[in-house]
Amino acid sequence: MTENRTGTLHCSMDWDDKPREACGVFGVVNNNGFDIARMVYFGLYALQHRGQESCGIAVTDENGAITGHKGLGLVSEVFSDKILDRMEGRIAIGHCRYSTTGGTSIENSQPLMANYKNGPMAIAHNGNLVNAGKIRRTLEESGAIFQTSTDSEVIANLISRYGIQTGDLEEILSMIMEQVKGSYSLVLMTRNHLIGMRDPWGLRPLCIGKLDDSIILASESCALDAVGADFVRNVEPGEIVFIQGAEIRSIRKAVGSQPRHFCIFEHIYFARPDSFIDGASVYRARLEAGRRLAIEHPVDADLVVGVPDSGLTAAIGFSRQSGIPYGEALIKNRYVGRTFIQPQQRMREQSVDIKLNALREEIEGKRIVMIDDSIVRGTTTRKLVQMLKNAGAKEVHMRVSSPPVRFPCYFGIDISCTNQLIAAQKTIEEIRESMGADSLGFLSVEGLMKTPVGACETGFCTGCFTGKYPIELGPEGFPVE
Ligand code: SF4
Repeated sequence: MTENRTGTLHCSMDWDDKPREACGVFGVVNNNGFDIARMVYFGLYALQHRGQESCGIAVTDENGAITGHKGLGLVSEVFSDKILDRMEGRIAIGHCRYSTTGGTSIENSQPLMANYKNGPMAIAHNGNLVNAGKIRRTLEESGAIFQTSTDSEVIANLISRYGIQTGDLEEILSMIMEQVKGSYSLVLMTRNHLIGMRDPWGLRPLCIGKLDDSIILASESCALDAVGADFVRNVEPGEIVFIQGAEIRSIRKAVGSQPRHFCIFEHIYFARPDSFIDGASVYRARLEAGRRLAIEHPVDADLVVGVPDSGLTAAIGFSRQSGIPYGEALIKNRYVGRTFIQPQQRMREQSVDIKLNALREEIEGKRIVMIDDSIVRGTTTRKLVQMLKNAGAKEVHMRVSSPPVRFPCYFGIDISCTNQLIAAQKTIEEIRESMGADSLGFLSVEGLMKTPVGACETGFCTGCFTGKYPIELGPEGFPVE
């Protein structure tokens, strides 16, 4: 997310000019003698798109203690067979992380492991607490010590604090849910329980799966598919689920206490297209966005192309609706990976050449419609328009399957500096001109709201498009702590 503990704005973005997701979480209660560490490993592997800076797995050992392994880098880099062989247990959780609060450091990687009055616990968190700074200051004033700069540690400290008053974890977590504000899809483990907890707005996803008698929690259903588990249901906004053995007990104190505000950007870009979230297929939502875009911004053209990979599905939807053939015009180098080095603006522009190349045979002499899922800074889009024109495109019509991003996100997505958001600085016509496109059209907010087919149509956060957030903002434009 956006605001760190000093109240300043954290501002970085992926080198391909896409905002970044905060984290993926995964947890298992192993009732079938599975290789639990490898199950979490493959679950995290499937969630790697949600965070690539660090990852970790925590397991209960035979004595009921919780041990873990964490590191900076991709799941495939942090874990080896030797490490996984050492991690045996009945309950395990895992986490992959992109730092939105707190920096990239091993201390800030998760799961966070701690001992409190009632025993050991481990926590993995996806989201951002908007009042974490205030709670942290209060805890520090009363003597609490923090080892990380993450808001997840604030939750661990609250568990410890309330654990003095009661040994009932259900009561402790219900008190925490009343106190913390913001986005959180959490998986927690104690020596006996796996627990899932989703914020009352339902900003981030969390679902339950089952493999034989073993119960799984995951950020997205694609991670259940990866381990061969069946989808059971979503954790509801405001719900806490306690899993012990094969039993799932639900605490629904805050269910329905807030209108549902699932992050619509999950459907646009963050989630994997093969995931189902809150009843809606991400793939179908992207197809539908392309279809609606063709209705809202029709154009005479010869070929529809998508920006790999995130614009491809919407491009297929645009093509089907418009009748304009769909083709490949931009070829992606599949071996360009993530980097810890944040390039300078000039480097960032050059990096598009490394990642994507134009297919002249498909492009030359044609009027092209190029579809992308979103435009944030605009640097990549400008470069791609030029690339198509250099490859002989007669016209390039840019279509975007989401509305202009004009406002920051406070809930765990790295969209923070409005001065770097092209749509916050320029009109649509100025953006078109700066990109050198022949025309430019964005999907409307109303159109976007209709794209997650099968989901609750009014239950989305659209803050970065509309400036209307589910949580009240203070006079300085930040959420009220
Ligand atoms: S502000 Fe945008 S990115 Fe953030 S939660 Fe809302 S819709 Fe998602």
